[in-house]
Amino acid sequence: MTVELVDHMGGDRAIADGAWVSTGGRRAEEVNDQKLKGFINRLYKDGHGTPFEYPVYKFYIEQPIFVDRQMITYRLATTNGRSGRYSELMNEAYIIPPERKLQQVGKTMDYDFIDGDETQRETMNQILRNFAESFWQTYQTTLKMGIAKEVARFPAPTHMYTSMYMQLNLRSLFNLLHQRMNLENEETALESHPQYEITLIADQMAEFVKEKNPLAWEAFVESKYRKL
Ligand SMILES: Cc1cc2nc3c(=O)[nH]c(=O)nc-3n(C[C@H](O)[C@H](O)[C@H](O)COP(=O)(O)OP(=O)(O)OC[C@H]3O[C@@H](n4cnc5c(N)ncnc54)[C@H](O)[C@@H]3O)c2cc1C
Repeated sequence: MTVELVDHMGGDRAIADGAWVSTGGRRAEEVNDQKLKGFINRLYKDGHGTPFEYPVYKFYIEQPIFVDRQMITYRLATTNGRSGRYSELMNEAYIIPPERKLQQVGKTMDYDFIDGDETQRETMNQILRNFAESFWQTYQTTLKMGIAKEVARFPAPTHMYTSMYMQLNLRSLFNLLHQRMNLENEETALESHPQYEITLIADQMAEFVKEKNPLAWEAFVESKYRKL
């Protein structure tokens, strides 16, 4: 899974200034980090969402189609994806990494994942490889026959990779992160159970937020990853 930060606008001071303008001031340049931190924390705690819309992130993402399907549910993000009509699909398929838990135990809405065994992992990965290879051969054959790309792609399995640009402001990004990060060991306001593969994307996005908006990130964590 690839997540690159292509563009970013708006640091923590842009958040504070967005709020301070309501009292007629532009104070962010004058205050020290301690005051800024306290103020941003307070904004977050009190649910003042709009100042967190000033920072904007644009990501380039490569992910399997089944993850892409989950990512495009974020309506407040701007997305454009690789086209299977105008270009060939990517000859790359997702293979399950060793740390991915395989077995679901419990009932709907109240379940857990456990490791599974090596036979299960090898069987699944062999199937994933076979389907990807078989699809790719068929795809190349049908393209050579002159069948249009948009038709030749019909049998593509959802573990083939695709790519997209996703741009969203920090408020929307916090919403995505609170639903999709791997927060298994954290104290959270929301019990979300995101699919492991999308956590690989969200966790990488989070690293960029920690770097570009560290004070907003701290406020997010202190509010138990609650969305605004
Ligand atoms: C664990 C998990 C399981 C899921 N399972 C399924 C599933 O089985 N099937 C499925 O279809 N989806 C599923 N989803 C997707 C989910 O229902 C949302 O579509 C997705 O998470 C996008 O979230 P969002 O609407 O908050 O984000 P965005 O669309 O980015 O919206 C951000 C926020 O803006 C506000 N907003 C946006 N649009 C509107 C609107 N029209 N009206 C009012 N407020 C709005 C809301 O506050 C929203 O939280 C799942 C998500 C998770 C995390």
